[in-house]
Amino acid sequence: MSIRVLPPEVASRIAAGEVVERPASIVKELVENALDAGARRVAVEANEGGVALIRVVDDGCGIDPEELALAFARHATSKLRDDADLDAIATLGFRGEALPSIAAVAEVEAASRPAALQTGGRVRLRFGELADQGASGGPAGTAVSVRNLFREQPARLRFLRSTGAEAAQIASIVSHYALAYPEVAFSLRLDGRESFATAGGGDRRAAAAGVYGAEVAAALLEASEQGEGASIEALLAPPSISRASRGYITLFINRRWVRSRSLAYAVEEAYSGLLQTGRFPIAVVDLRLPPGDVDVNVHPAKAEVRLRNERQVFAFVQRPLRRVLAGLAPVGAEPFGGWPRVAARPGPSAPGDPAPDLTLERAPLQSALRPGTPAQDPAAQPALPAGLPILRPLGQAGTTYIIAEGPAGLYLIDQHAAHERVLFERIREARASQKVEVQGMLEPLVVELTPAQEAALAIQGTALADYGFALEPLGDRAYLVRTLPQVLAGQDAAATGQGPLFGLSHQLVN
Ligand code: ADP
Ligand code: MG
Repeated sequence: MSIRVLPPEVASRIAAGEVVERPASIVKELVENALDAGARRVAVEANEGGVALIRVVDDGCGIDPEELALAFARHATSKLRDDADLDAIATLGFRGEALPSIAAVAEVEAASRPAALQTGGRVRLRFGELADQGASGGPAGTAVSVRNLFREQPARLRFLRSTGAEAAQIASIVSHYALAYPEVAFSLRLDGRESFATAGGGDRRAAAAGVYGAEVAAALLEASEQGEGASIEALLAPPSISRASRGYITLFINRRWVRSRSLAYAVEEAYSGLLQTGRFPIAVVDLRLPPGDVDVNVHPAKAEVRLRNERQVFAFVQRPLRRVLAGLAPVGAEPFGGWPRVAARPGPSAPGDPAPDLTLERAPLQSALRPGTPAQDPAAQPALPAGLPILRPLGQAGTTYIIAEGPAGLYLIDQHAAHERVLFERIREARASQKVEVQGMLEPLVVELTPAQEAALAIQGTALADYGFALEPLGDRAYLVRTLPQVLAGQDAAATGQGPLFGLSHQLVN
């Protein structure tokens, strides 16, 4: 289909707003263009968090040399003709705004050749102006390079976060698309180093291995459901594998990566009773709905969508997930391995076990919960966040919650979350008072990072080392944890090492 400038009455119906907020938004638009062009290979490169260079190369249908310059005109698109198309959008792009918006804030070079032509075309734009154009003999497909982003907009440049944070966002975008399009071979290079690659064979689990690592991918469960004009296919982690943030719930509607609080909640709810509070599932949900039931034209970056029958869709998403999760052997409460004193007594291993003996637990809990109480062993005194009132522990429920009484009434404290927080505060305190003591690991722990985490680590690795974490790359995004801060010594490293480690790297990056 040829590229044309949209008539004003169609253009004016398109949700207006900023497309190019940060480097990752450029990557998103260029990757979406490649996918709309039917690419089977999408190679993404970014240097210095995408500010120095973003390059996306695809083997899609290409752009006719005669139309290459037109692709950079506002509201020029090959994907929409008229109003009616706008109500049933089947492509990722439709606004005809990405390329001109990107070209307005950077130096852009595009080379493209449709497979049927011997010679392709090439254009170069500098901050919105066409600087140069000519022929190009490159491979079939399209390559777009974006350099010196925001050089002419220093205020926008200052608004960006650290290079590591921007690179992590790019990694997050590309890895999400790799999960949504398992039939496409994606690769990402950050500052010249391969971050991840997927094979493109069409197997979503294989794509998940490229993104989350082989171990997580192998454990993922499959759920699916067919409805009238709708279908869902999901990969979800068993409750034994969980994460500390919602960032691992990935939703696609009609192959578009979307943020939907309501549907993410539908996934979360499906795990209700299976995960401790503060823990979230890993899930990749591929939802297909009749295009007319989804309005993607509500958000300038097309990240949010409006659903016609939200309640129905919520149930449709939840049903197959619950079915699969309900079929698992009950996991019950994992034996709790952390709260400094309580842990000395092994917790019950299954929900049916007798209730813990509260009289035994009361004394240590009391001292643990009361900030400022002088303790014999200062290491056992958790540094509770300031502002927590003095609480009187009443007991424990389900091996997960401490029930306590305080000035404002009854308090339920998630032991696991509280424990992680206490460790986190201790690690920070040690660093702040320059008393970081490091513990070498007898049995080094291997952690597998996501591309986004690895990108953050590449930049923040030295900062993490200052806190006492020394990581050594093993390849394939696996890292050997050589040392931990002393305050974590004796903790179950596999469980607790990840929490504070990534909590900390997250804080540092943001
Ligand atoms: P939109 O994607 O909303 O149509 P863009 O500004 O992103 O608008 O792109 C304008 C047009 O340029 C597209 O409609 C498409 O025809 C063409 N185009 C852009 N990128 C590519 C690509 N990688 N391969 C083939 N065609 C492309
Ligand atoms: Mg586009």
